[in-house]
Amino acid sequence: MTDKTKPRIIVVGGGAAGLMAAGAAAEAGARVLILEKMKQPGRKLAITGKGRCNLTNSADIADCITHFGKNGRFLRQALHRFTNNNLIDFFNTNGLKTVTERGGRVFPAHGKAPEVVKVLRQWLNKSGATIRLSSPVEEFKMKDDQIVGVVAEGEFFPATSVILATGGASYPLTGSTGDGYHLAESVGHHIITPRPALVPLVCADSNLKKLAGLSLRNLGVRLFINNKKVKEIFRELLFTKDGISGPTVLTLSGMTVDALQNRDEVYISLDLKPALDEKKLESRLLRDFQKRGKESLSSLLRGLLPQEMVATCLDQTTISPDCQGHQVTVDERKRLRHWLKNFRLHISGHRPIAEAIITAGGIDSKEINPKTMASRHIKNLFFAGEIVDIQADTGGYNLQAAFSTGHLAGKSAAETQPFKA
Ligand SMILES: Cc1cc2nc3c(=O)[nH]c(=O)nc-3n(C[C@H](O)[C@H](O)[C@H](O)COP(=O)(O)OP(=O)(O)OC[C@H]3O[C@@H](n4cnc5c(N)ncnc54)[C@H](O)[C@@H]3O)c2cc1C
Repeated sequence: MTDKTKPRIIVVGGGAAGLMAAGAAAEAGARVLILEKMKQPGRKLAITGKGRCNLTNSADIADCITHFGKNGRFLRQALHRFTNNNLIDFFNTNGLKTVTERGGRVFPAHGKAPEVVKVLRQWLNKSGATIRLSSPVEEFKMKDDQIVGVVAEGEFFPATSVILATGGASYPLTGSTGDGYHLAESVGHHIITPRPALVPLVCADSNLKKLAGLSLRNLGVRLFINNKKVKEIFRELLFTKDGISGPTVLTLSGMTVDALQNRDEVYISLDLKPALDEKKLESRLLRDFQKRGKESLSSLLRGLLPQEMVATCLDQTTISPDCQGHQVTVDERKRLRHWLKNFRLHISGHRPIAEAIITAGGIDSKEINPKTMASRHIKNLFFAGEIVDIQADTGGYNLQAAFSTGHLAGKSAAETQPFKA
């Protein structure tokens, strides 16, 4: 028999944040129902980390916070109340072993993201929370400045509190189509314009198409906005059919998207030889060109560059591919050196939000109490996950934020005095 004196919480959205919020609220004694729009919960969670699910990152919480940019401060409470270690313990206790890989990235030991969803569902069942699938929430019902319930498919569901966890607007086929923004707006919340983050970038130069599929490692990637270097990362880069991608580019994409929307000039400059400063590179070129003076430059450059890049290099430095090592002039060597240290890619755009790993923007965090995840406008409305204006680098931080805010919102909602519904 259900206890009518207990709070009845409706969680809108059964993604990472919603599933965690629901279980935490049920464990704290509330009656909980998740309304999930899709036929299955956790569709996005099940494809994370290229199907392996990078659950979290093992870095210190203080370090984790630095990966959230300007809104990291807002997340401090949530990340301290349910830490990365708490999350790892939670999964381990529920039968999911984890492994920590390069860069502190934590994955399920079996490497199967769909199993993470399964573990969460089993835990939910145990906690007593229920889930109703194929139930898109369309409307909040209000009375005296509080939510008294939600409407899904024309049916009214009474609630003493509501947790909105509908995610962002990227990868819409997983169910995250931005519905939550309209629901929050309908009760007076301000939405920071949603825009793609962790998204591949598009380069105007059609010649780069030839490099599609090429992956470069150990290079310096520098982002320039209006000719000013704003960030430099040493890692890898992948050429795509219309631009560039890979973890380094994704990390730089948030700032790039904002700059492009501002109509700023953006380019990325690659240092293809970060281990050699200009002087060392000059000696290396001189040595190679003298030692193998009879060889063509195309052949010589293969020792310095992936084969696929040689033609682009010669094209951009305007040096003849047939030129032999001993024929390279001082000026040509200077151009080569400069190109190897500063291969410039003009960024003309980004892939659409549907292809972004996360959505930047969302519910203005100033309108949320960071200690509880409760709305500052509507006492019995809570938020969790990507719907909030938070964004992080790759490395497991985004899921940690979804789980931490979900846990905090669930517990806070369960502790809220029941409102007669
Ligand atoms: C391809 C990909 C790989 C990723 N890999 C990683 C990774 O390895 N590590 C990491 O940290 N992050 C990763 N992310 C980001 C991470 O998946 C998200 O930040 C996280 O899933 C956000 O969780 P959420 O619960 O807030 O939203 P979501 O997971 O998007 O869940 C929202 C849920 O709400 C439901 N919903 C929407 N509208 C309604 C409605 N009106 N009524 C009812 N239900 C509704 C949706 O169907 C969905 O189930 C990845 C993202 C993508 C796209």
